[in-house]
Amino acid sequence: MQTSVIGFPRIGTLRELKFASEKYFKKEIKAEEILQTGKDLRKIHWNTQKEAGIDFISCNDFSYYDMMLDTAVLFGIVPKRYRELNLSDLDTYYAMARGYQGASGDVKALAMKKWFNTNYHYIVPEIEDETQIRLSGNKPFEEYNEAKALGIETKPVVIGAYTLLKLCRYTGEKTINDYTDAVITAYQDLLKKCEENKIAWIQFDEPALVQDMSVEDIALFHKIYDAVLSVKKESHILLQTYFGDVRDIYADLIKMPFDGIGLDFIEGKETDFLVETYGFPTDKWLFAGLMNGKNIWKNHYEKTLQVLGKLQEKGIKSVLSTSCSLLHVPYTTKHETKLSAKYLSYFAFAEEKLGELAELKELAESANYQLETTYQKNKKLFAEGRDCFSEQVHKRLSLVTKKDYTREPKRSERQKLQKKELGLPEFPTTTIGSFPQTKDVKANRSAYRQGKISEEEYKAFNKKKIAECVRWQEEIGLDVLVHGEYERNDMVEYFGEALGGFLFTEKAWVQSYGTRCVKPPIIWGDVYREKPITVEWSVYAQSLTKKIMKGMLTGPVTILNWSFPREDISIKESISQIALAIRDEVLDLEKNGIKIIQIDEAALREKLPLRKSDWQKEYLDFAIPAFRLTHSGVKAGTQIHTHMCYSEFTDIIPAIDDMDADVITFEASRSDFQILDALKEHHFETEVGPGVYDIHSPRVPSVAEIVAALRVMLTKIDKEKLWVNPDCGLKTRDIPETEESLKNLVAAARVIRSEG
Ligand code: GLN
Ligand code: ZN
Repeated sequence: MQTSVIGFPRIGTLRELKFASEKYFKKEIKAEEILQTGKDLRKIHWNTQKEAGIDFISCNDFSYYDMMLDTAVLFGIVPKRYRELNLSDLDTYYAMARGYQGASGDVKALAMKKWFNTNYHYIVPEIEDETQIRLSGNKPFEEYNEAKALGIETKPVVIGAYTLLKLCRYTGEKTINDYTDAVITAYQDLLKKCEENKIAWIQFDEPALVQDMSVEDIALFHKIYDAVLSVKKESHILLQTYFGDVRDIYADLIKMPFDGIGLDFIEGKETDFLVETYGFPTDKWLFAGLMNGKNIWKNHYEKTLQVLGKLQEKGIKSVLSTSCSLLHVPYTTKHETKLSAKYLSYFAFAEEKLGELAELKELAESANYQLETTYQKNKKLFAEGRDCFSEQVHKRLSLVTKKDYTREPKRSERQKLQKKELGLPEFPTTTIGSFPQTKDVKANRSAYRQGKISEEEYKAFNKKKIAECVRWQEEIGLDVLVHGEYERNDMVEYFGEALGGFLFTEKAWVQSYGTRCVKPPIIWGDVYREKPITVEWSVYAQSLTKKIMKGMLTGPVTILNWSFPREDISIKESISQIALAIRDEVLDLEKNGIKIIQIDEAALREKLPLRKSDWQKEYLDFAIPAFRLTHSGVKAGTQIHTHMCYSEFTDIIPAIDDMDADVITFEASRSDFQILDALKEHHFETEVGPGVYDIHSPRVPSVAEIVAALRVMLTKIDKEKLWVNPDCGLKTRDIPETEESLKNLVAAARVIRSEG
């Protein structure tokens, strides 16, 4: 039995690459130094895997920013505006990743998108009509030879041609079909170069195969790989899939001359069934993705060994593999000094997973693995009850009835009543919640965390900030105010810390994009609210103004999606538990005089299953009711808002309406307001604030610009239903630009009101 790792994290155990990159961006270090940091990290990562005894170790899984961007550069997909800057290769690369503003020109960064169903973002390559796709770079071979010089044989990983073509943006007249031939030649050249370098295995990552595939898609895949595989000689090709099963193309795949096929047995619900039904050819290797690359729990050896045993019985040659790249988990539990050994004994981050692969390899080769100590130890861990059960939570959930998922009276009646009770003007203005997180705000939080200031001092400072923020909003003339979220760094971290059932790590960073990392909390046990979380802040903020103060919460779906979930209960059950905890907070806010409560569901759209056929039953059927459970208990006059980042929910508009919020705000400015047509078409009932300007850029929108945006919106949205707001929270912005932008926003609302 051999073992394989699809990819390893690259940011560094202590985020070395992040800090070096940021220094390079600030021109504090030279190019050689950042390149050296990369080299040092690669060496550590390869050696760690080698020492763990991994057989198939990847190279070219390293990236200075993003692997999709690396692939684009490898094949010469560099838009003209970046080439024309005439920068070094490294700086052109960073210009595409981050934008460039300086002596050589002024260009924005390429777009960024979520990498399938993960919280990792990739850079979207742009193909222009004049783009010449061909093998132009050497990165996979440089890394291969670098590893080889260290005495380590690796398999270069390259994003496959099909996934690349599917994820690129075509900015001119030409489309995918116009580039297929060039892409084929480029990958053939890549393969030829592998042969020249005597590379034993190359891994093509094709996660796009786990999405719904049409007949045309399958034909495209065939066209590409029939041609690419035709130049194969000595080198072996591993076709690697992950994040789901390949049900649409499995029967074809196994007939094609790949040497290995990597299948995901964790997220691929039908993988087992496919292998069972169609078999797997004995002349190929099945890279069985049985070690969860996305979660931090230890592997259940008994289950894994059973699957491996079944494959063996069928005479299938298998390699034990991670289910996806380990990029999506933190490096190691070693730096966690605050979590007790008991907790840590349940976790395996990337490095610990390597150890598990090695143990499983030994067990799989053992004549009677049941007798081995490593097996016994693992079995015991899973057999022993974890201290994670709350009788009360279960009891409460069991008492939830259909009624608890339905808010009365129906929305149209509530909307009429709220118009009267809240007394807001037409086109009410508001913001999404957070205000600029200036240095002093961050310093206050961090001093408190480190025990350098007392709780009173910490709170006093925040209250002073809230008071300033309220005064500021009143001066600007906004209608519905917020307290500014100064007590929050990351919203999920904030709520997780306040809820029972969550665990926190110190150094368990996961790359989110480029140099940005997140530290998702771990859902350890049944979730409940110990005590009110936000009430004190909201009540204080409301006491400072006669205007309406909006309470600010995060919804259950988002809290779950941005945490490491449990594996011993269903996602549905976890979400319902969180929903009840948030419901308590909603009702407490209401009881304390808060009339508008926003429950953010920033991450609702992003965890939509990759296949459309799974959307309802695998997700929406419980995610949407969970949201309703948080707010169904409030009075008719209490207005519930929600906020979603991105506006790519055109395809699930009825589900969004079904959340039964009174108002939703979202990011529409970046999608050129395309979603508005869809809202109209679906007779969207919820009142809407489709963000009138883009907060991701420091640019200040003019009054005229916002008025124009509102006029467009009014052609699609009833005037009684339109709200005026920025498209997301303001925490990443500076004070001066925020003030100017909001003043213009209020002025624009007044212009529209005066037009009658
Ligand atoms: N209320 C949050 C804020 O304003 C929402 C953030 C988000 O949507 N990501 O920061
Ligand atoms: Zn947002």
